[in-house]
Amino acid sequence: MMYPFPFRIPTNRVVSVTQPFRSTELAAFYKSKGLNYPEHTAIDAIAGTPVETFGTPFVCPFPTAKLLNFTQADPVKGTSARIVVEYKDPSGNVFVLGCIHLSEAINKPTFHEGETMGYIGNFGYVLPEPTIGKPLDGGHAHITLIVNGTIVDPLMYLDPRKPFYGADTGAEKDVPAIIRAAERIREALRALGIKPVA
Ligand SMILES: [Zn+2]
Repeated sequence: MMYPFPFRIPTNRVVSVTQPFRSTELAAFYKSKGLNYPEHTAIDAIAGTPVETFGTPFVCPFPTAKLLNFTQADPVKGTSARIVVEYKDPSGNVFVLGCIHLSEAINKPTFHEGETMGYIGNFGYVLPEPTIGKPLDGGHAHITLIVNGTIVDPLMYLDPRKPFYGADTGAEKDVPAIIRAAERIREALRALGIKPVA
């Protein structure tokens, strides 16, 4: 059973996987051949370019999902917002979906299919690294999926050719996400007693 990809994007964008899933076993195999492809038990995905990806809604791909936990971004520590949700299908299979590098996570006990659970950001270790001149570079979602307790390649269940399309996507959502990210930076600086420049 394939579920839609958890992005809501304008119809002129496509989902690309920029870093595939590599199990511990695969990473060890590469290492035995003298190759450096470290473990990546998730996929990295973008919608269009990394700049366009910033602010993309990360949405619920399941009929319904329960919030397990979330944290908001801490730009001073360099950590992103993250969210983890759970869905139990009618056969009793348990799906745990997680995403990091969000600019914001939505705190709600339950999400329905297509509902926004967060906005993709570029905090944390991202490439290309954002700079003062290009603050929206590096936008991507690092998506983890655990099915019945086993970490799996999310592409086994989430179809990148079938994201959610909708009018409430793109620029009009990017702006609030960027403003909220900037507000968090200012808040964090204030907490440290540093006077923001603007
Ligand atoms: Zn990743």
